[in-house]
Amino acid sequence: MSNQLGPLWSLATSQRHQNPQTPTPHDPTQATPATSTPDGFNIGEQDQPISLFTQSQRGLPRGPLARRSPTPDSPPPYGPAERHYIYYEEQDLFHMRAGDQLFRFPVNWITDISEPLKLLANVNPENSKEGKSDRYPIFLPDAPEEWAAYLSWRTRTNPPDTTEQWRHLLNISHKYCMEEPKADAILALEKIGDFPLSTKLQLCSQYRITSWFLPTLSAFLAIPNKDYTPEDFINLGEKMHGIIQLKGALDYFYKELLSNTFEVLHLCDTSEEEDCQADWNAFFNEIIALMCHPDQPIRGIEAEKVLQAKTEDCRLCFRMGRDSIVDKGILVQDREILIAGVGAIAESFGFAAAEFPDIE
Ligand SMILES: [Zn+2]
Repeated sequence: MSNQLGPLWSLATSQRHQNPQTPTPHDPTQATPATSTPDGFNIGEQDQPISLFTQSQRGLPRGPLARRSPTPDSPPPYGPAERHYIYYEEQDLFHMRAGDQLFRFPVNWITDISEPLKLLANVNPENSKEGKSDRYPIFLPDAPEEWAAYLSWRTRTNPPDTTEQWRHLLNISHKYCMEEPKADAILALEKIGDFPLSTKLQLCSQYRITSWFLPTLSAFLAIPNKDYTPEDFINLGEKMHGIIQLKGALDYFYKELLSNTFEVLHLCDTSEEEDCQADWNAFFNEIIALMCHPDQPIRGIEAEKVLQAKTEDCRLCFRMGRDSIVDKGILVQDREILIAGVGAIAESFGFAAAEFPDIE
């Protein structure tokens, strides 16, 4: 008998999308008395009253007392228990379809996390077939791999682990304003994302990732123009104009500094003045050269620190020259150029310049 029932039961359970490895209370092959279940794990449905009552209780005469015998409303045999919030009713589970893939999961997995998708909670009224079977699923207008990425993130059983999967998660979570998975995707991509800086900048723009923007732009600006790749131009398109323009303005500023001489107010002996000025010119040009370095240029603010450190024990004329340069803010004028340029670039990426008050 049980051999005949076995396949029937497996069919029934597979239709319910239950994990075949998990013994179900209905599975006759697993049917063992509750008292002998390993680890004291009791399976309620198997415990019909007959196993719970003593012989004398079963022998009670019929009458008012007998009607108090267990009914569905009677106290649970194992003591009271409340339904945890992770307790899904059949009607909470929706059949969904994205592309050629079917999914079935509790609707609150998306309605509790996505404002735009909250309306899904109301799409299948009692008399509608929508979302209640594989035949009439709710259609999700997204790539199946994006929902797969979200669901694997949500269940935590097999979370995304490749750049591609995290990008799917980033895409779907951004699209439906799901902040938590989006933040996780950004963190993961920060660690494992192996894409060019221009792609990263493009992602900043596409998904409004403000935390990436300035560091990535700064690293991208540090790349010499000749090393930009065709892919960079394809990724950034017209946004490259602002970037090249800013670099040009900075270049112009540094070269102006390099070509001009800065006259020091000399306190040395008049006969030494000419040599002193020549020494200063050579010394100062070395510092400016750091700002024009082809691979690792430093900004004016750093150059000013170098100037201050190097003139600490210098002759008086040099210290006078340094004070004058610092007072006039000659080296740090690139900051204004940067603020204006980065502000314009940020706007071309869809950000407000005010989102980045700390440009250095
Ligand atoms: Zn001097």
